[in-house]
Amino acid sequence: MNKQKVVILGGGESGTGSAILAKTKGYDVFLSDAGSIKENYKKELLENEIQFEEGKHSQDIILSASLVIKSPGIPDKNPLLLKIKENGIAIISEIEFAAQFTTAKIIGITGTNGKTTTTSLVYHILKKAGLNVGLGGNIGKSFARQVAESNHDYYVLELSSFQLDGMFNARIHIAILCNITPDHLDRYDYKLENYIDSKFRITQNQTAQDYFIYCIDDEITTSWMAKVKGQAIQIPISIKKELSQGAYLKDKTIHFNITQNPFTMSIDDLALQGKHNAYNSMAAGISARVLEIRKEIIRESLSDFENIEHRLEFVAKINGIDFINDSKATNVNSTWYALESMQSPTVWIVGGQDKGNDYDMLLDLVKEKVKAIVCLGVDNSKIISAFSKAIPNIVEAQTADAAVQAAYRIAKKGETVLLSPACASFDLFENYEDRGRQFKHAVRRL
Ligand code: ADP
Repeated sequence: MNKQKVVILGGGESGTGSAILAKTKGYDVFLSDAGSIKENYKKELLENEIQFEEGKHSQDIILSASLVIKSPGIPDKNPLLLKIKENGIAIISEIEFAAQFTTAKIIGITGTNGKTTTTSLVYHILKKAGLNVGLGGNIGKSFARQVAESNHDYYVLELSSFQLDGMFNARIHIAILCNITPDHLDRYDYKLENYIDSKFRITQNQTAQDYFIYCIDDEITTSWMAKVKGQAIQIPISIKKELSQGAYLKDKTIHFNITQNPFTMSIDDLALQGKHNAYNSMAAGISARVLEIRKEIIRESLSDFENIEHRLEFVAKINGIDFINDSKATNVNSTWYALESMQSPTVWIVGGQDKGNDYDMLLDLVKEKVKAIVCLGVDNSKIISAFSKAIPNIVEAQTADAAVQAAYRIAKKGETVLLSPACASFDLFENYEDRGRQFKHAVRRL
């Protein structure tokens, strides 16, 4: 039995999963959370006889570890982490830890936007194809927990850059990099290169038997690829050019071209509409094709997929007005795609906690699609000054209810009310899910 001491920092789903896995593997386990740990996780830790503390980090215990697994939420700059590093103790992520204990093939998805959607799509196709597959990473049950409790042949994992930062030896069989636009720069010394570097860690252990699916329309991605020579077989996707190898969109038809047996699909048949979802569907379809899943199953899965909450989620039609919840759009780029997919004059609910947003890239689209703006944030001054020339009708609201009522007064039959905030939610809400839920309740109360 291995009696190495492992300390886990953070007692959420990823930390608790890691603790359970480490315990199963015979480690001496201690979990520490500076905040409070949810009751259900505490119960599990107790049941598994795992020692833990909450509301503090006991340095002496932590520094006696030979391995630290840290929650992706804790920034590298955290003084405790610096101390741990100074003491020469390895710090890894949950994904890195769990990957050592499985021979399953990993399909890993990263990117600034589209991770959850693409991950869910890939999982849906693989499941429909009858594969023994688990879904993890930032979604649902942690990867570590599943490695401890089940025996899957494949894992589809959503990998944030913070998970990737703590990944050193894990090998990703199929890596999907959706796109890269500036985000989270506060965690990367405000250097875009560091953030890009982090995303590319997904390819670092790939071999010539692995695959790297990327968006060839994304200049940041392609310029970086010229610098980093990965070993994997590269498969591009595009909505701008025809590709002899890869997936591309032309005249409303998606072409999946990677084997002897290419196939096509009309974008009208895709469950998820909008250009961004064409990308996500292409990436998912191609990865399924790599795994030699039949084209009929891929087509069927891409058309019967049920949308996930808070991502361009249709809420209701009230007096002929469509209400759409895109609360997960927490940066300008994701809101660009939301606005781009609007089919009727739109009352746009935007705002929240600004992350250094530059609204210029939205201006043309806003002129084309938006009839009025409802600001939903504590400080809306940046939004007002960015758009007041183009859109004279701007109102401010401080609650989801007030925003929905203001939008409802302005919108007419046949038009759309879209919540796509382009900002974080923490000024007025607990998180983006809370914002989305409050929006939906407010709509249903109209
Ligand atoms: P992530 O998990 O990377 O945050 P999601 O799949 O949850 O991404 O989507 C978040 C938001 O980003 C959605 O509300 C949608 O508006 C937008 N989005 C989704 N896919 C893409 C894409 N491929 N490119 C740009 N924006 C996207």
